[in-house]
Amino acid sequence: MASDKSMGMNGRVYERVQGDAPNDDELDGYPAARLFSQGVSFTYDDVILHPGFIDFSTDEVDLTGRVSKNISVRVPVASSPMDTVTEANMAGTMAMVGAIGFVHYNNTSTEQAAHIRKAKQMRLGYVADPAVLSPKSTVADIDSLKSSKGFSSVLVTEDGQLGSRLLGVVTNRDTDFVADRTTELAEVMTTEVVTASSTSSRQEAEAVLKSSKKSLLPIVNEQGELVGLICRTDVKRSLAYPVSAEPTLGKDGKLAVGAAVGTRDGDKARLEHLVQAGVNVVVLDSSQGDSTYALNMLSFVKKAYPELDVIAGNVVTSRQARHLIEAGADGLRVGMGSGSICTTQEVCAVGRGQATAVYQTAKLASTFDVPIIADGGISNSGHIVKALTLGASSVMVGSFLAGTEEAPGDYFFQDGQRLKKYRGMGSLEAQAKGSDTRYLGDQSKLKIAQGVAGYVADKGSVRRLVPYTMHAVKQGFQDLGASDLPGVWAMLRNGEIRGETRTGAAQVEGGVHGLVSYEKKRF
Ligand code: 5GP
Repeated sequence: MASDKSMGMNGRVYERVQGDAPNDDELDGYPAARLFSQGVSFTYDDVILHPGFIDFSTDEVDLTGRVSKNISVRVPVASSPMDTVTEANMAGTMAMVGAIGFVHYNNTSTEQAAHIRKAKQMRLGYVADPAVLSPKSTVADIDSLKSSKGFSSVLVTEDGQLGSRLLGVVTNRDTDFVADRTTELAEVMTTEVVTASSTSSRQEAEAVLKSSKKSLLPIVNEQGELVGLICRTDVKRSLAYPVSAEPTLGKDGKLAVGAAVGTRDGDKARLEHLVQAGVNVVVLDSSQGDSTYALNMLSFVKKAYPELDVIAGNVVTSRQARHLIEAGADGLRVGMGSGSICTTQEVCAVGRGQATAVYQTAKLASTFDVPIIADGGISNSGHIVKALTLGASSVMVGSFLAGTEEAPGDYFFQDGQRLKKYRGMGSLEAQAKGSDTRYLGDQSKLKIAQGVAGYVADKGSVRRLVPYTMHAVKQGFQDLGASDLPGVWAMLRNGEIRGETRTGAAQVEGGVHGLVSYEKKRF
């Protein structure tokens, strides 16, 4: 009897014995090959997957994926290179929870490189961006930090920067009754400060913080220079965070950080800055990546930095994918017009339903062992399950992470809701800051918006959102009967994964319906 066997990453053998196949009347639904060859472009919501047979627990599901040939991630999620999504704090935190972040380039190359450096140095439980002032700063400076960032305590160093010698700490207690707000911090700061050494483990540092009964614990190196900060409130909050996956590390042994660059000549100099900063993988950022600009940049990067993984895109068809793979892409970013803030399909009439785009490009790319990143259109864990099942090795998200504490920008209240800004890089607002290169294939002078600017709700910390979401994804894999990515792809190929498209009514039925009101808590 012939059999079709394939091995999953965790050693599980996925076997379908011919002759042991279900009867025709049991074999309902469509295999992917038929589902996606009907001349219809499907989004994630159009498609529903059928449950399989469960013989393992959710804890046995291994979601390890890749963003490029050499960068694997235990949590197959990448934060998008957008200026309201990924700067240092997001990139560092994503790597710390086992995922990865791509720092945007709507800034100078020096600023982008600084975000990469900072992200790579971050440590779980340490404040990413502590408030630091110099002894010459005034109490009024603290007042303005308090109103813009909510900080009430600041660290004072010789030159007012992290990395310089720690001189003291100023808390509310030092400034509450200072009538003259022009008083310099040198006069009010507390100079007897309990600190922990940069060589101590997080647990050791937290023990010092607990016994000191202080609200802050500065971390200093052997020279007495400030290298980090631990806060009592953060330690208390982190007790409520779920345990996250092992961090994503690069070959350099540090947190892995990605970054975006454009495809113009000026981006070559930018790239050199990023490489100096230790970037582990770059994505060539273009909304239509099948162009001479992208191909030329790709071959330049592969020649100039042979060790650096390069992700190219965006593409949605097999032909586009083949061009970039043949030019040496180490990963492909897939999606055109599927992003939540995106108006490309409306404005330019090009793009593809994201489920179809992922399935078709992954089918081709898998024959070259080039991973696919399903980019855009992810708004729940079910979309991640579908993207990974259809062949993506990871997903890239914007709106899903916008509004988290780690996303750039300040929160504000509107109609009682705590919000943060989220904008498309093709919105006129973002283009005005420089991101037009992504959307203008040539040197066009007229700017046309291909995205919008808006607001999203506060989503709390990435440290909570990502682990909970991935647990939901694991449950989806368990329902499918697949315990890892290679396994689910084997089932996709051999026809075991079956599904159907959903009518509009079926989609309504698949969501919450028929209630007068309800509260949707995700976890
Ligand atoms: P989301 O996760 O919010 O659905 O989509 C994020 C993705 O949308 C990004 O990773 C990027 O590929 C794409 N994107 C970001 N800004 C814009 C924009 O202004 N216009 C278009 N067409 N796509 C955008």
